Amino acid sequence: MSTNDIEMLVRSILAEKSQLFETAASASQCFGAEFEQVDDAVAACLEAFKALDSNALEVRQRIINELRKALEPYIVKLSEDAWAETGMGNVPNKIQKNTAALHKTPGTEDLHSQALCGDHGITLFEYSPYGVIGAITPSTNPTETIINNTISMLAAGNTVMFSPHPGAQNISRWLINKIEEIIFNLTGIHNVVVAVKEPTFQTTQQMIDHRDIRLLVVTGGPGIVNTAMKSGKKVIGAGEGNPPVIVDETADIEEAAEHIISGASFDHNLPCIAEKACIVVDTVADELLSSFARHGALLITCPQQQQHLMAAIVTPAGTINKAMVGKSPATILTAAGIPFQGEPRLLVMEVPNDHPLLYIEQLMPVLPVARAADFNAALELAIKVERGCLHTATMHSRDVYNLSKAARALRTSIFVKNAPSYAGIGVGGEGYTTFTIATPTGEGTTSARSFVRTRRCVLNSAFNIK
Ligand code: NAD
Repeated sequence: MSTNDIEMLVRSILAEKSQLFETAASASQCFGAEFEQVDDAVAACLEAFKALDSNALEVRQRIINELRKALEPYIVKLSEDAWAETGMGNVPNKIQKNTAALHKTPGTEDLHSQALCGDHGITLFEYSPYGVIGAITPSTNPTETIINNTISMLAAGNTVMFSPHPGAQNISRWLINKIEEIIFNLTGIHNVVVAVKEPTFQTTQQMIDHRDIRLLVVTGGPGIVNTAMKSGKKVIGAGEGNPPVIVDETADIEEAAEHIISGASFDHNLPCIAEKACIVVDTVADELLSSFARHGALLITCPQQQQHLMAAIVTPAGTINKAMVGKSPATILTAAGIPFQGEPRLLVMEVPNDHPLLYIEQLMPVLPVARAADFNAALELAIKVERGCLHTATMHSRDVYNLSKAARALRTSIFVKNAPSYAGIGVGGEGYTTFTIATPTGEGTTSARSFVRTRRCVLNSAFNIK
């Protein structure tokens, strides 16, 4: 092909693109995650919102389709780099999480308009975007949350300013820049997603306070959710959890053990939905513990070793030792000075009902197990252990009445029956994926329809054809 031919081809592609999309005349010199100042990032993102808003709904879906295709080759890189930067979790599970975020987050099909027809005509309920959303993302699922939030928020017609966790800023910046590049190449619109180059707690606060941020979506611990709540703005808060798993006497114990180990060891227990305390009915407790051992868990039974383990993972003040968050069982055992062989999948420790490990969100592959006299006692303890986070709970049972009773009483946003906890976010379970489970504010497993304003449009005396 001659230089002339190539030039002609490029010109025709660009001409075609400008007919397909309303592009933004970007005043910004900065793009994606390269902004120095919060004000400039928000201004550029607002400009992108206006450009996106003048395009058809179909354009949003085309962007999402393109993101699914163009980010796919980077899934392994995202997982490896997030693991290397944060030092938490493991690459194979991060690959599963990123894949689910990319391919199982719903797009525009999630938005169903509603119409009410009657003698007076028709009333339409439509879903409209907020504008620029301020999204705060955690270190535990950094790239998964950015992918998931981008697809959901964009499907709803918004643009997004991200405030990534400083501990995952390099991979978050790389990903936001890649998303910027993909969207610009397809549409000619810059800055549909933005961030500042160096996110800090201060820039997060500036974003929270910014007048042009219409909605705050916070995925993180209780501190940052509460900070955002004080802004007086609409907040979708996806906060901490402490998911209990109940095993009653009717459960398939072998299968329950395998599922609990798979869920509690997933990404070394980093997901907020992962099993963090196990409560088992006494008559099947010994069987469950020996099944755990058969499925690759290491049972820490010696009281002295239990003390050493606790000293390694919990500080004297009773908080988790952050240095151990998301570390492998082998790393934790080494830190605790406990000899071991091979590579245990999970560390399991039987504890009394008032043991602190049952009540703190450890985010580590160490599972405390407590016995209960019967199902009702197990449920009562599970409610206490969940601490009113109303986040996630799991149960293994063949008794539908017990399952229903627990689901009702625990009142969690996600309740998983007879499967690992991650089935609740669409990994090996029916349904879509989300990495922002809004518990304190009640939206539950968020998707595009969580990030819209509902508007009512009334037409009098027409369009009723009954
Ligand atoms: P984190 O609370 O330390 O950080 C979350 C975000 O808040 C980060 O972007 C961080 O920079 C920011 N932040 C924290 N404190 C701040 C402050 N004082 N000022 C400004 N910004 C601040 O959370 P993490 O350790 O990254 O993630 C783990 C926590 O998040 C766990 O409690 C987990 O349960 C929760 N989480 C919840 C969900 C959910 O969907 N509900 C999903 C993932 C993680």
